[in-house]
Amino acid sequence: MIDSHQSEPENAAALRAIAPVICYPVETLPAPDLAMYRCARENAEQIARVVVPARDASSVFVPAGSFLRILCPEGPQVGDLNLFNAHDLSERFYSGKTRALHGTHVSVGDRLWSNFPSLRPMATITEDTLAWYGMDQFGGSVHDVIGTRCDPYTAQLLSGHHYHNCCHSNLTRALADAQNLDLCQSEPLVHDVLNVFMCTGFTRDTGQYFMKASPVRAGDYLELFAEFDLLAVLSACPGGDCSAEHSSDVARCYPLEMIVFKSTNDALGNWTSPPPNAYDRSHGR
Ligand SMILES: [Zn+2]
Repeated sequence: MIDSHQSEPENAAALRAIAPVICYPVETLPAPDLAMYRCARENAEQIARVVVPARDASSVFVPAGSFLRILCPEGPQVGDLNLFNAHDLSERFYSGKTRALHGTHVSVGDRLWSNFPSLRPMATITEDTLAWYGMDQFGGSVHDVIGTRCDPYTAQLLSGHHYHNCCHSNLTRALADAQNLDLCQSEPLVHDVLNVFMCTGFTRDTGQYFMKASPVRAGDYLELFAEFDLLAVLSACPGGDCSAEHSSDVARCYPLEMIVFKSTNDALGNWTSPPPNAYDRSHGR
């Protein structure tokens, strides 16, 4: 019989002292060729510029081999990003596996991975003007893949109110508009986000998800290289800089921008889109 109230074993301290092992060592992953990306970026030309209004979302097509800049143009504002294969919406950003591979927060050289069965890089982060922040004394850092997205269901659970401009709803509407879907079709496609510019972590004592004022300033940006044709959908979170609360109209909010820069084929050299994952999908049968 299992005793659910087992007392601490005599070697409890020794067990706690065992050094952690990294779950997914990434040394075997092909390293991104950042020099090639920088070279390709040099002569890239702007082909699209989309404003993301405060407390709303917008979408943009990002062709393979081009760059997506997510810009904070006016004041401190956090963005919630969804990425899709532009030709197959069932392939989309996998926040959880990106976290398992690269850690709780991402920056230059990290990849944004797609879901099963493709599990391949959708985008590579090539520039991050907030890289200086590092990790603070609370374990907080920027651009996390630990949050999900603010949503009206959790807000309803916690406050009893109906709020319609959470990132989940903003992304649902923007995806519906971009793909000519109704809301029932687009909502299940919305997924856990990359929290661009958001400053977050887990409290050391209780392990709770925390946020604090984002250090983002007007002019800061995060830039991604599109590894294949992408549809990017970005919400300007109703939490603004996420220093106090979200899921309401209390916080001061600002717009964001998505700007796409296309590089020439010459600059991309021998680069090609990564193939889908090579696992044979037989699952032991
Ligand atoms: Zn949000």
